[in-house]
Amino acid sequence: MKPAKFEYKDPHSVEETLDLLKQYGWDAKILAGGQSLVPMLNFRLASPEILVDINRLQDLDYVEEKDGKLAIGALTRQTTLEFSETVKSRCGLLADATELIGHPQTRNRGTVGGSIVHADPTAELTAIARALDAEMVIRSKDGERTDSAEDFFVSVMTTNLEPEEMLVEVRFPIAPPGSGWAFEEFVLRHGDFAVVGVTAAVTLNSDEVCTDARLAAIGVDETAFRDPALEEIIKGEKITDSVLKELGSQLSEKVEPFDDLHASAAQRKHLVGVLAQRALQKAANMAVENLRGEN
Ligand SMILES: Cc1cc2nc3c(=O)[nH]c(=O)nc-3n(C[C@H](O)[C@H](O)[C@H](O)COP(=O)(O)OP(=O)(O)OC[C@H]3O[C@@H](n4cnc5c(N)ncnc54)[C@H](O)[C@@H]3O)c2cc1C
Repeated sequence: MKPAKFEYKDPHSVEETLDLLKQYGWDAKILAGGQSLVPMLNFRLASPEILVDINRLQDLDYVEEKDGKLAIGALTRQTTLEFSETVKSRCGLLADATELIGHPQTRNRGTVGGSIVHADPTAELTAIARALDAEMVIRSKDGERTDSAEDFFVSVMTTNLEPEEMLVEVRFPIAPPGSGWAFEEFVLRHGDFAVVGVTAAVTLNSDEVCTDARLAAIGVDETAFRDPALEEIIKGEKITDSVLKELGSQLSEKVEPFDDLHASAAQRKHLVGVLAQRALQKAANMAVENLRGEN
């Protein structure tokens, strides 16, 4: 199918983009990498009157350390996360997990901001944002606001962005010493969206006791699922099989997934528990290795 007729705008600056969003509101839609929006236009799942192409806004394509955080411009391509030395050294989970997002061709075009705003319930970046408490920097003609990932993601493909707002930056915390991470997922074919996925990040002290744990799952709820009470199970503990088993079974109990063509709710419940244990074990192994390397 072909998209419905739309007017095309390609602003040269963020200010010009914000003017257009203010002027056209709900009738406008931002085009970033187009990897989700273009299929939606073609299937007429979206039919904006105005398409605002932000690909000229090269000042939104950056990775930099800012105020002790890793700041990533919204137009940064997903490929950059995979290969940037700054991302690898500052937030290795992002670098390692990016290869799970689609294919090299989609990552070359797809942007960090586009994936976050599209808010697919199985998007890897939404899980990482939730697990690491990423901050969203949002602009409109009225100014700038910063939002937590927890508040930003509302439900399936829905965020709290207003029509006149755009996401300009996402800030991730820098991985502390003694930390490790992993992203484990179950996919039907390489490059597909995950059926279920779990990301984990842990920090261990010199006695290999867990001082911080982060866990978020995709494919089991309307947005990435995180429950800090589960993370408390392993904080203050050595990461042993029995602790992981307890956490995995509590996570399986807590989630309320859905049936679809790819998996039943029961399969998703089972998978999330198994993948959580696997991700946490891998994260803990990496943290131990990192601790030994640091000493
Ligand atoms: C074959 C294939 C496989 C894929 N597999 C995966 C996968 O495994 N995991 C995964 O997570 N994704 C996957 N994707 C989706 C891909 O990651 C997309 O790149 C991403 O979802 C959207 O990013 P984009 O830059 O292409 O955004 P676009 O498609 O251009 O836009 C997506 C939405 O975000 C809005 N938007 C974009 N940027 C901004 C901004 N700065 N401010 C406000 N609104 C904005 C747009 O208006 C639109 O509503 C796959 C895509 C394809 C085609």
